[in-house]
Amino acid sequence: MSKVIRIERHGGPEVMQCVDVEVGPPQAGEVQVRNHAIGVNYIDVYYRTGLYPQSLPGGLGLEGAGVVTAVGEGVTQLKAGDRVAYCSGGLGAYAELRNVSAAGLVKLPRGIDFETGAAMMLKGLTVQYLFRRTYKLQKGQTILFHAAAGGVGLIAMQWAKALGVTVIGTVGSPQKAELARRFGCEHTILYKEENVAERVREITGGAMGRVVYDSVGKDTFQASIDSLQPFGLLVSFGNASGPVPPVPLTALKGSLYVTRPSLFAHTANRANLDEMATDLFRMVGSGKVHIEIDQRYKLEEAVQAHRDLEARKTTGSSVLLP
Ligand code: NDP
Repeated sequence: MSKVIRIERHGGPEVMQCVDVEVGPPQAGEVQVRNHAIGVNYIDVYYRTGLYPQSLPGGLGLEGAGVVTAVGEGVTQLKAGDRVAYCSGGLGAYAELRNVSAAGLVKLPRGIDFETGAAMMLKGLTVQYLFRRTYKLQKGQTILFHAAAGGVGLIAMQWAKALGVTVIGTVGSPQKAELARRFGCEHTILYKEENVAERVREITGGAMGRVVYDSVGKDTFQASIDSLQPFGLLVSFGNASGPVPPVPLTALKGSLYVTRPSLFAHTANRANLDEMATDLFRMVGSGKVHIEIDQRYKLEEAVQAHRDLEARKTTGSSVLLP
């Protein structure tokens, strides 16, 4: 038996229920993992509310770290007892025990504990592809990064600093501004109070940002466009405030570029996943990127974890502990 979080309908955090289920043996190509820690991500909210499609009833969660307890037919690279981490392979990570596709699993290096593994895979691989694959940032460039004190945000602040990139980060409170600065953010903007594009103009002496990373969506889209230099790139990679409404192409005046990337398009290719994970483990192993876990909840407290995340009460990563 395994404790799992299930939803039977879409809605607020209260639709999540903690139930006991029988977990069958792993199917061909699958691995059974006993999760020691589970990552909480904003994308889990999108699946719970129905913004992203999912069949019901179903599980939630994409990210975890734990120990392999059994392998299905055809799985040769992993065996019972291996320490692993994952951030794909189907919904259902909010569970003590689960079957997950082996295609998305990587072995967790000895020096990385389970909580850190669960807190860093989805968010860290996201920063990896945003900074090294979507656009290869170069030393000396200036970027604008929204929600700088969040889970993805704090990893991004440190990674950018390690690359010699100057970050202007937006945050929802002075406390978050201080935290983002501690993690390498050079300039902070309180986007509830200040005009973002005006502040970017001031900070950059009129040069504006080379790339804007926007995971807030609806509320920040226009400010993001207005903060770019000619030929600049807007990376719209999330919708914490709601999806961006359709925009006319004429909004991209100044020869701007926009992309709407997804982590899973990158990790669907095993060679890419391995390369990205190696880079992430190197950054964390070298101490250049510290994975900050500011919230820990029991698995049964998933409802509270989502309430806190949506109320903008969290900073850094959150994990559920089975
Ligand atoms: P965060 O820890 O960053 O939490 C979201 C943050 O967004 C909040 O803390 C808050 O920070 C800010 N925010 C701004 N407006 C709102 C709002 N109206 N409601 C709630 N939050 C708001 O989450 P994650 O680190 O898990 O993810 C960050 C973003 O990156 C998400 O949008 C996620 O979907 C996206 N993402 C996209 C991926 C992709 O490949 N496309 C992969 C991984 C993540 P503040 O108070 O400072 O404003």
